[in-house]
Amino acid sequence: MAGDLIDIATARERVLEHVRPLGAEEVALGEALGRVLAEDVSAEEDLPPFDSSAMDGYAVIAGPAAELDVVDESRAGHPAQRALASGQAIAISTGALIPEGADAVVPVERVQASNGRVSVPDTAAGANLRRAGDDVRRGEAVLRAGSVLGPAELAVAAALGHSALPVGRRPRVVVLATGDELVPPGEPLGAGQIRNSNTIGLAAQARQVGAEVVGNEIVRDNLESTKAALSEALERADVVCVSGGVSVGPHDHVKPALAELGVREVFWRVALKPGKPTWFGARDGKLVFGLPGNPVSAMVTFHLFARPALRALAGAQPDDTSGTAVLDEPLPRNAGRDEVVRCRVRAADDGWHVSPTRDDQSSHVLTSMLAAEAFAIIRAGEGSVAAGERVPIELIR
Ligand code: AMP
Ligand code: MG
Repeated sequence: MAGDLIDIATARERVLEHVRPLGAEEVALGEALGRVLAEDVSAEEDLPPFDSSAMDGYAVIAGPAAELDVVDESRAGHPAQRALASGQAIAISTGALIPEGADAVVPVERVQASNGRVSVPDTAAGANLRRAGDDVRRGEAVLRAGSVLGPAELAVAAALGHSALPVGRRPRVVVLATGDELVPPGEPLGAGQIRNSNTIGLAAQARQVGAEVVGNEIVRDNLESTKAALSEALERADVVCVSGGVSVGPHDHVKPALAELGVREVFWRVALKPGKPTWFGARDGKLVFGLPGNPVSAMVTFHLFARPALRALAGAQPDDTSGTAVLDEPLPRNAGRDEVVRCRVRAADDGWHVSPTRDDQSSHVLTSMLAAEAFAIIRAGEGSVAAGERVPIELIR
């Protein structure tokens, strides 16, 4: 801590203390990618559901080399009509049901077939069989509540017979950008104007973590407009992210507007660079992030504070993306604040290495976010961190 500033970890904890997970809903598997599982999923059936062949070949009774009569066929989806007796083989396809009486499969490459007979080599019991329940046994818990459903989770759910899954409701987010200087991309720039990039970046970050963005607009720098936009946002959203206007300038209206709307301040200002003016508050379970206007600060603070909140609202377990990496270039320390340096990551023989995406890591240099795969956290202090030292990192993709 430095003065009245709290550190990154404390700020994140205080955000998460205010999260009350949203309810759950049932969604079809086809709609469930990226959603958060709300309940454990246990197998109601064995996977695979029956003993089957791992190869194309012949189902046999295990034993010494022999010449056998081929008496039937078991194809995928079309089991054989009869049981296997001594001296017999049944032609079988990969994935087909093992006929009654058989306990091994001889691959087609290892037999000689002619005139309805096959000669098979010495075969051990269980050869080339897939057993029922090899993958998952009935009753086993396979997917855990709080996990994010990716392609593998969805495929497993389908394999176990689920056509829909209970998932946490997606948080609804309104993104606002304050600033008289802001012009939407696509419109001409006047003197002193800049393009609004924050709502685009922040809305994309929110969507990427599974939130539904229900509003996205520019707000002008006066108390009435700021209050009106925030008031409406609080009606529609679970989470409001507003960029800019949280400092102490005469045209910064976000904090007074939120105070008038009854949003209680939880913290303001974090010992973080970029991102010092970050504000966080809550009203009746709704969360408000007052993010700094500088484009890098807005994206960094969204990632550090709003993203974990959005995940937790949807019921997700915290994702541990933190670790350490070797810094490839020396970096100066900031005396009072931890610095978040946008970095590329590379794998080397001695583990992960990071290096800044750009030398200029100023909070207005938005292209420093390009190609960033991790934030390196350079702890506050004197002097600098030498190349080759290990630093804490957070993976960001
Ligand atoms: P503020 O926090 O409102 O003082 O803004 C800090 C800096 O960020 C100023 O240089 C603003 O022009 C810039 N800024 C604020 N909002 C945005 C935005 N939506 N898009 C791009 N830059 C912005
Ligand atoms: Mg401003």
